[in-house]
Amino acid sequence: MDDHASTAVAASPARRIEPSDDMSPFEAATYFFNESAERCKLPDQMREVLASSYRELAVQIPVTMDDGRVQVFRGFRIQHNGARGPYKGGIRYHESADLDEVRALAALMTWKNALIDVPFGGAKGGVQCEPGLLSQTELQRLTRRFTAMISYIIGVNRDIPAPDMGTNAQTMAWMMDAYGQKNGYTPGIVTGKPIELGGSPGREEATGRGVVICAARSAKKMGIDFAGATVAVQGFGNVGYWTAHLADELGAKIIAVSDVGGGTYATDGLDLQALGEHREGSMSVSSFAGGSEVSNEDLLELECDILIPAAIESVIHGKNAERIKAKLVVEAANGPTTPLADKILNERGITVVPDILANSGGVTVSYFEWVQNIQQFRWDVEHVNEELEKKMNLATDSVFERSEKDGTPLRAAAFDIAVERVAHAAHIRGYV
Ligand code: NAD
Repeated sequence: MDDHASTAVAASPARRIEPSDDMSPFEAATYFFNESAERCKLPDQMREVLASSYRELAVQIPVTMDDGRVQVFRGFRIQHNGARGPYKGGIRYHESADLDEVRALAALMTWKNALIDVPFGGAKGGVQCEPGLLSQTELQRLTRRFTAMISYIIGVNRDIPAPDMGTNAQTMAWMMDAYGQKNGYTPGIVTGKPIELGGSPGREEATGRGVVICAARSAKKMGIDFAGATVAVQGFGNVGYWTAHLADELGAKIIAVSDVGGGTYATDGLDLQALGEHREGSMSVSSFAGGSEVSNEDLLELECDILIPAAIESVIHGKNAERIKAKLVVEAANGPTTPLADKILNERGITVVPDILANSGGVTVSYFEWVQNIQQFRWDVEHVNEELEKKMNLATDSVFERSEKDGTPLRAAAFDIAVERVAHAAHIRGYV
């Protein structure tokens, strides 16, 4: 192992604690896991294994900036559990990416991959930086150095990164190239690559497509007609953009969208084509002439059938959960609802489709991409979308059925299915 790399394993936080807004992302993820472990009656040793990460790597990334200065960034790759297959999870470039956040996201990946039933364990990576302030050459140097630093623990059959917030297909192309310099042509080392380099058709829009399939299926089960339903989407990046577009294609009325600069809304529905063109100019959607300005906070409280948070975590919390008016909340972002808000929404009878189900379309098509790389055979986009739809519908149905059978909210049902699958795999491997 490189001198600059350090490994440590987090201790698992205390077991039964009251939900609150003050929980760190990892405490929140562990809270949902512990509740599930209790319901599933997991033995103590199994709980201990599943409540903490298997491996955590923190690295220093010195980067020569365009002006000749050297700036040092912190990077992380955390592998939570690999009982069901190689570790899999995105790489986030964001100023708040730290050990705790990446640890939480790695654990969520374990549960997500088990729930959607792809043969992967869970991992996540992050670099603490503001990608918007870095040039393309700085980003490329940062990415190559980070890839070299984590190359000891990733691999086609070990751990396969993908894009997340602040990273994209270009980032994955650089990662593949940096890894390939040492290991030879290895397209299966990352997913979410450009199509020309072995990426899968349909991957770019896959998370949003999965969100829409899941939202439409959930709406139908609740007696809401998706075609004609009013939808507010927070976030207009990869996930929010595609979610809004594909929901619009199915006839839903997108009444509001937002980005970090604020939001725009129109009670009769936004013209998404024009909004997309407005965004091309790197303008915030908040200045879109076809809608009225709305803040990110107020967007969440708009009157609508379906609310889709698709930006950052903890935006629905104890202070605004009482004011959410949507009938259905579909978590396209990871961790947008704090444990306290989750409790309040449940008590108010608002249905929450949890992140580990709603946004699992991305990792599902990442799995298809990995399969295509290994087979060296390209699927067509129709086949990718058809298989994605099958998997999303199957998982959505299984969560609703479990929820009905056990009388639990959808998040509890989703966690229980996932936790049982991972615990069973760990057990039959003889790991615990
Ligand atoms: P992205 O970087 O493409 O877009 C993020 C969006 O959120 C942008 O519109 C940005 O302006 C907005 N945003 C950033 N900070 C904000 C703030 N403080 N308030 C309001 N909006 C803000 O990221 P993405 O890939 O679309 O990811 C969004 C969420 O979806 C994240 O939680 C991510 O973990 C999750 N997710 C992404 C994927 C994927 O395939 N990209 C898969 C699963 C889950």
